[in-house]
Amino acid sequence: MDRGVTVASSKIERWQLRRGDHIYARRSSAANVYCHHGIYESDKKVIHFTNPSAQSSTGFSSSSAFSSSSYIFCWECRQAMHGGGVVSCCLDCFLEGDSLRLFAYSVPLWFYTASNVGMIVVNRARLTCHMADEDPPEAVLERANYLLRNGFGTYDALVNNCFDFAFYCKTGGTLVSPARAVMIGLNPEPVQNNPTCMIL
Ligand SMILES: [Zn+2]
Repeated sequence: MDRGVTVASSKIERWQLRRGDHIYARRSSAANVYCHHGIYESDKKVIHFTNPSAQSSTGFSSSSAFSSSSYIFCWECRQAMHGGGVVSCCLDCFLEGDSLRLFAYSVPLWFYTASNVGMIVVNRARLTCHMADEDPPEAVLERANYLLRNGFGTYDALVNNCFDFAFYCKTGGTLVSPARAVMIGLNPEPVQNNPTCMIL
């Protein structure tokens, strides 16, 4: 599988990164498990969609108001991410000390099923890969940088979150989550469930 990603682990090393990769960090604490997704351009630039309401005067979390991370953001990234929405930061500040993981595309159905067994409904935050094909890096980064300038709509932990942003940049499309399907009047397809970046 792509760069050694297996059913059991999607962890990769920094030297394995390529421009336009969909990366994610799995946050965890005693009570919470969720993932934060973004598009890698360079070690100095990861573009991701953040929750504006996750910030306070005393702290900042790039991904969730529920974060318990004690990571200290560098000054530049703190300024760049102020206000939330689609933002850019360095790889270290994106990861917040968590391990680097690659979201794999074009995986066969058996791999997708094995990787996400039990997670699709129970804990969508742990979805690690998808069968969809990814677009070339130039197209991915063009979308990501366009959205960095123009935004990705209103952040919503259920229907418009960091995963939706990264998946759209990679494919030009969107997955239909149960919540989104209800909103637009569709019957949700179980296989197309959408991982989110909130507690499930
Ligand atoms: Zn930084």
